Amino acid sequence: MSDHPEISREAWLARLGELSIRQGSHLESLRSRDARDFELVLASAALFLPSGQLLDERRANECLLAFLASAGAWLAIDYAELRRWLADTGFVLRSDYGTDYRRGHFPAWLATAAAQLQVNDLAEAVAQAGEARARQRAQRREAWLAQASAGLEVSESAAHPDDEIYMRLAIDQAHNAWALGEVPVGAVLVKDGKVLATGFNQPIGNADPTAHAEVQVLRAAAQLENNYRLNHTTLYVTLEPCAMCAGAIQHARIARVVWGAADPKTGAAGSVVDLFAEPRLNHHASVRGGVLGAECGELLARFFAERRALRQQGSLPAADEEGEDGAD
Ligand SMILES: [Zn+2]
Repeated sequence: MSDHPEISREAWLARLGELSIRQGSHLESLRSRDARDFELVLASAALFLPSGQLLDERRANECLLAFLASAGAWLAIDYAELRRWLADTGFVLRSDYGTDYRRGHFPAWLATAAAQLQVNDLAEAVAQAGEARARQRAQRREAWLAQASAGLEVSESAAHPDDEIYMRLAIDQAHNAWALGEVPVGAVLVKDGKVLATGFNQPIGNADPTAHAEVQVLRAAAQLENNYRLNHTTLYVTLEPCAMCAGAIQHARIARVVWGAADPKTGAAGSVVDLFAEPRLNHHASVRGGVLGAECGELLARFFAERRALRQQGSLPAADEEGEDGAD
């Protein structure tokens, strides 16, 4: 058992609430990340066994199920596995015959607070943390929609003085796409003030539905770096990323994303969904949206206007044959 400074009842509840953001957590990963969190969670589960009582296996299981239905609902574990963990660590003790269970002894740093905690306090702390996160998400979304509909910049990440400079480079890349008849979306990836790679939307030319500007630039940078993780980088892209690109951005561990025009049809950074604010996904890039948004959006609008004109002249195949979206 560990030897940590004593925790207060309030700190216990607050920490349990924080941990509950990690939906689907495994006890093994909690333990390897932080021994205190591991013990705090096991102690929380053990508190669901009434103090000083000897419980038969069925009663003990019911107590653990009650924990897993409330304060422990975010854990990826079943009651039998949890019971094994508790018994192995001494938070729950088995009788000599192995048929009865009772609450064990807690490590010193948890003991004082444990005596002041009720099962309901623990359940409520986790429920409240969940509600607070839902409220935050709703507020963010509301604020986002209000700003986006007013044509204003939408930001979570603080502005960086060079954001517009790099967005202009991304716009240059979007022009490359246009030159090849692709929907004009461009991207650059920046690390330590240097452009690591550039990319533009090219699904038609590459006959590749995944060849969005973001994927192109991530692929180029990962090959240059010979590393599939692109830590400490900022991605600039002229259009709000779609769900596929948001996923690729998360897999690549991009630290920050700056995008230009909102995409009301497939935007996954707030317009349709906000995958960057989804707490169940474990990597979070910080996001700044709407940088040179009018300019980026204008480019797309001019492109589609030109295409409609060409189509009317019969110089381009009909929209449904080629697909209007080509690239968001
Ligand atoms: Zn995309």
